[in-house]
Amino acid sequence: MAEITISITDGEERRFPVGVTVAEVLAELLSGKARKRTVAARVNDVLVDLGVRLNGDSRLEPVSMGSDEALVILRHSAAHVMAQAVLEIFGPEVKVAIGPAIADGFYYDFERGTPFTPDDFERIEAKVGEIVAAALPFERKEVSVAEAMRTFEELGQGYKVELLQEMEHETVSLYRQGNFVDLCRGPHVPNTGWVKAFKLVKLAGAYWRGDEKNIMLQRIYGTAFYDPKDLKAYLHNLEEAKKRDHRKLGKELELFSIQDQVGPGLILWQPKGAQMRRLIEDYWKEEHYRKGYELLYTPHIARRELWQTSGHLDFYGENMFSPMEIDEVSYQLKPMNCPFHINIYKTKMRSYREFPIRWAELGTVYRYERTGVLHGLMRVRGFTQDDAHIFCRPDQLEGEIFNILDLNLHILKTFGFADYDIYLSTRPEKYVGSDQHWEQATEALKLALEKKGLAYELDPGEGVFYGPKIDIKIKDVLGRSWQCSTIQVDFNLPERFEITYVGEDGKDHQPIMIHRALMGSLERFFGVLIEHYAGAFPLWLAPIQAVIVNITDNQHDYAVKVHEELRAAGLRVEKDLRNEKLNYKIREAQLQKIPYMVIIGDKEVEAGQVTVRLRDGKNLPAMTPAELVATIRAECEAGRGW
Ligand SMILES: [Zn+2]
Ligand SMILES: [Zn+2]
Repeated sequence: MAEITISITDGEERRFPVGVTVAEVLAELLSGKARKRTVAARVNDVLVDLGVRLNGDSRLEPVSMGSDEALVILRHSAAHVMAQAVLEIFGPEVKVAIGPAIADGFYYDFERGTPFTPDDFERIEAKVGEIVAAALPFERKEVSVAEAMRTFEELGQGYKVELLQEMEHETVSLYRQGNFVDLCRGPHVPNTGWVKAFKLVKLAGAYWRGDEKNIMLQRIYGTAFYDPKDLKAYLHNLEEAKKRDHRKLGKELELFSIQDQVGPGLILWQPKGAQMRRLIEDYWKEEHYRKGYELLYTPHIARRELWQTSGHLDFYGENMFSPMEIDEVSYQLKPMNCPFHINIYKTKMRSYREFPIRWAELGTVYRYERTGVLHGLMRVRGFTQDDAHIFCRPDQLEGEIFNILDLNLHILKTFGFADYDIYLSTRPEKYVGSDQHWEQATEALKLALEKKGLAYELDPGEGVFYGPKIDIKIKDVLGRSWQCSTIQVDFNLPERFEITYVGEDGKDHQPIMIHRALMGSLERFFGVLIEHYAGAFPLWLAPIQAVIVNITDNQHDYAVKVHEELRAAGLRVEKDLRNEKLNYKIREAQLQKIPYMVIIGDKEVEAGQVTVRLRDGKNLPAMTPAELVATIRAECEAGRGW
């Protein structure tokens, strides 16, 4: 019998008969325990099912539980199982669209006349349980596109037919488990018995192919894990995340709102949110002045020509708001601040001596996003970037990147984010600028990261077309990742706007331009802050730091006096002198997550003191109002790091 050579991960080679399955190879090569943890395999860099037959020399790597790939495979398989369950319960009038694995689980889109309800979830989960118990194998079959189309036409599954109509290959793979068949590339776990730790999570509407002109489908989200313990932890986190949802807290704490009459994706900062924004902006500006930045203000609109020169109309046009005519000239809202800063650069001749130039702006930009993707403060149509542009010489690049990283991490830490992932993205396939410039800039970014002692992941080819970049994703208290800071080198705009400086040699040179945003956008960062702290902000950021509460009307005058004294000292303090029970007033202050509750009864009036209860229920010893001011100030300074 003909034989083939299979080489495995550590370089070992073994001979097997032609047509051996991956599972059979692994049975010979792996210990029992390792084999049980193997979900699928990578054969010559292609992910395949364990049941696949090998017909030529191959390189084989097992994919084991615990890897991200294995989790994707499980969730993908779970999506099939969920679709099978839905069809078995609700019948063939339900049409199935697509069902991919996503970051935390998977979803499947269905078309059905009646909306699904939470009660349906229980039924679907019970049915999934039956399918899991039956341990049905996932059977793969390669067929021609025409045959696949016939199959789905017979099943009355038009979405699959539509997908097939656009396929360019000649053959496709179908996967069948039980009586359910799906169009899928695979791979999957060997049988449905693997989908044990499974849970439906939520329901949402989703347009077919994400296009608002298409029909709205019902999307059921679910998740699956290999280990039930992981599922439990995930569901716990999910509950926690719901409690922390910034849209819910934003309303309860009266921080911000989004109103239909104003427009989707446009944020109204209410007094308490606006107070926090002022504190964030003041802190941000102060730190930037300290680090040698100058601040700019630029308009919200500019002539269309500017966006032509910058290239935004060509490369970013569909994200821009439509033009408006003023005195027969076309203007457009800005999607970015950079061209304005470049115009300020061009107001005079620049010399190498004034470099580096560091210009920062809290610049409000407008970008078109489809209504379907808008989400609270996280995805909006108008937002303020904490933007800056640095113009420098090539030999200053590394130092400037180092300084930015320094400021960046310092600011993130002050806001409570000390855990992050850093990515360095290098030259993509399509790019502008010379290879030499790209190499030098990429090297400078690397060196700066290394000097700062920061671990990073390389994202080869993921840079923007105009230069390499560093991205920082922060992790919140629930371990969720948020894209936040970005530092980008740009070889494009200096060229397009033909900006120069006079070098030491007396000749004109093109400066290096760096774009960077540390918080990203104030709106989004605010959303992350709300969820990270669950609305219980540190004292220096809290919109209201203290509330004065009297026990009875007897202490009214003294309470008013204390309130005035604290306000005069610059504290953000409110008073609750309503004729209500003390416990009721305290409960309300706790719901508002006010850090200090300043309680005044007869004893306090007599002693000229106050009693302080913290929002976590602890009490501070009685103190004078002046002592309270000092306590709060000290805690704020420590929080802000000044
Ligand atoms: Zn699949
Ligand atoms: Zn920029």
